[in-house]
Amino acid sequence: MAEIFPAVFFGHGNPMNALLDNTYTQAWQRIGQEMRKPKAILSISAHWFVPETGVTISTSPRTIHDFGGFPEQLFQVQYPAPGDPALARRVQKLLAPLEVNLDQTWGLDHGTWSVLRHVYPKADVPIVQLSIDETKSPLFHFEIGRKLAPLREEGVLIIGSGNLVHNLHAYAWGRHAQDPYDWAVRFEQEAKQMMLAGEYKPLIDYESLGPTALLSIPTPDHYLPMLYVLATRQSSESISFPVEGVDGGSISMLAVQVGAPAASVSKTRREPAKRT
Ligand code: ZN
Repeated sequence: MAEIFPAVFFGHGNPMNALLDNTYTQAWQRIGQEMRKPKAILSISAHWFVPETGVTISTSPRTIHDFGGFPEQLFQVQYPAPGDPALARRVQKLLAPLEVNLDQTWGLDHGTWSVLRHVYPKADVPIVQLSIDETKSPLFHFEIGRKLAPLREEGVLIIGSGNLVHNLHAYAWGRHAQDPYDWAVRFEQEAKQMMLAGEYKPLIDYESLGPTALLSIPTPDHYLPMLYVLATRQSSESISFPVEGVDGGSISMLAVQVGAPAASVSKTRREPAKRT
């Protein structure tokens, strides 16, 4: 049986997490350590939200500092992971007849590198980013996730990067620690229960879930990467939450992992003597 890599949705939160050592970044690090290294990564980031579906085709995607008002140190971060044009073409083929632009201009935005810098600090796994078409419905994005699922059997780690709850209006920027808002906690709980029960329809139609959902998802960009990851799940596969917590009152740092870490499948077969 082919080894199936997990798919992981990361709540990336504040871009400063790229530089910090905290419970979130330590948990990201563990995810990388507990998993066999993938051949490549396909990343769907909230921060490439444009009116088309595109994949990065560059062999050396640039590190994009797509934010303002942060310390100079954050602008100096480079994440020099190589690209993977063959994977970009494979994605294009899997999504046909949908038109997928082989993009030369984008690179790795902070949704991707602020997390992966902790998961794979050596930047030695090739990465392709897939854009989120902002003109399309949540169902469209879920269906794209389904079509991408076979990549998990081809040594590719699919990641989504966003935040399940992402309300910057209510976020406590640099102020004292803010307790999580009730609506944020409630929506996160409801969403987790639906994920565990395999009830995807309400998560796709999240706008019908009422005020807690609307406060948690004022814009779809940070939520949709979660749907891509969820859509790759086979019905028998486990679902787990390797990172939990609400930052600044209104940003859920929840990570959602579909499937078991690949190492648990390969360890006995390929690395019998090595313990991690
Ligand atoms: Zn973000």
